[in-house]
Amino acid sequence: MPTRKKVLVTGGAGFVGSHLCERLLADGHDVLCVDNFFTGTRDNIVALLDNPHFELMRHDVTFPLYVEVGEIYNLACPASPVHYQYDPVQTTKTSVHGAINMLGLAKRTKAKILQASTSEVYGDPTVHPQTEDYRGNVNPIGPRGCYDEGKRCAETLFFDYRRQHGTNIRVARIFNTFGPRMHPNDGRVVSNFIVQALQGKPITLYGDGSQTRSFCYVSDMVDGLVRLMAAPDDFTGPVNLGNPRESSIRELAETVVRLTKAKSKLVKKPLPADDPMQRCPDISLAKAKLGWRPKVKLEDGLKETIRYFKETL
Ligand code: NAD
Ligand code: UDP
Ligand code: UDP
Repeated sequence: MPTRKKVLVTGGAGFVGSHLCERLLADGHDVLCVDNFFTGTRDNIVALLDNPHFELMRHDVTFPLYVEVGEIYNLACPASPVHYQYDPVQTTKTSVHGAINMLGLAKRTKAKILQASTSEVYGDPTVHPQTEDYRGNVNPIGPRGCYDEGKRCAETLFFDYRRQHGTNIRVARIFNTFGPRMHPNDGRVVSNFIVQALQGKPITLYGDGSQTRSFCYVSDMVDGLVRLMAAPDDFTGPVNLGNPRESSIRELAETVVRLTKAKSKLVKKPLPADDPMQRCPDISLAKAKLGWRPKVKLEDGLKETIRYFKETL
């Protein structure tokens, strides 16, 4: 029987965070979920509210937080371009001030702390697939800068707290993740395509759809995060977590149309500024250090996600 830990999940009412809270409760821990409900909702965690080991706190991580915990998963941050560009200054504050506050909390309580970083630290990559030692190609003054540079600065803070204060850190670079509880209108490609297909609307391909992404199902991602937290303390990362199966956006659109049996046509829309052309993780490090690799196939994950959107729409 593993020991029960007191675990803080910031952004716990969001898409990935709510699945993580569920997993931590199932593993026998006490979970404190902190969220300001900017993009997350109570609906995502409603099933957990009656659990005596679960506690929900409305709080913005850009303000100090004094609680007693043993582990911190710092996920608070809007993740989709539509949401993080809605109030870009607040996005940078959430990543930077949020990291400072959560690191201050980790320092005081001697908690282990894991940062949900992102493949966006690589920007529009010139190295393919991306390995952790690649330093990236980010436009600091473009529309994605608030998110990308905020996350990069958070990584810097994590490593400086480790060097300066000996804080016990972990940094995960998360690649595109999908599954039930994605926001139906956050503009991300998987949710957009499924919602469009289910509503019989045209599928919006930005550009010609030749750009690539690799999509990781949420249960695999949560498993990677939990393994990273449990890894030996000398393994800080940064470590890529994502599914290395790369697909073009056009291929994704065609798969969604096939699985939903939709009549939707594909229509081309302009490609957004600084949209990365290729993205695929090299996960050798996660395989070697965490014994982790994604298990859920794209089609199986899409079927689960389609089922979820059919129920909620
Ligand atoms: P999400 O938007 O569903 O979840 C983010 C949560 O953080 C929401 O519940 C939101 O209300 C909360 N939040 C935002 N600002 C906050 C603040 N100032 N104080 C407290 N709570 C705040 O997004 P997600 O997809 O679940 O992403 C979770 C984390 O994983 C984010 O840090 C994101 O950057 C990272 N990530 C996600 C992906 C992905 O594909 N989903 C990819 C790379 C990185
Ligand atoms: N902090 C927090 N909770 C704590 C401890 C600190 O939110 O339990 C915040 C605190 O407000 C500070 C930040 O974390 O602004 C950084 O803390 P640290 O101790 O590293 O720096 P200092 O307080 O010396 O500025
Ligand atoms: N995309 C698309 N149609 C949509 C939404 C997104 O073609 O309706 C494209 C988008 O231009 C990008 C890819 O799909 O190339 C992934 O977009 P998303 O916003 O999901 O994630 P990110 O760009 O942050 O990886």
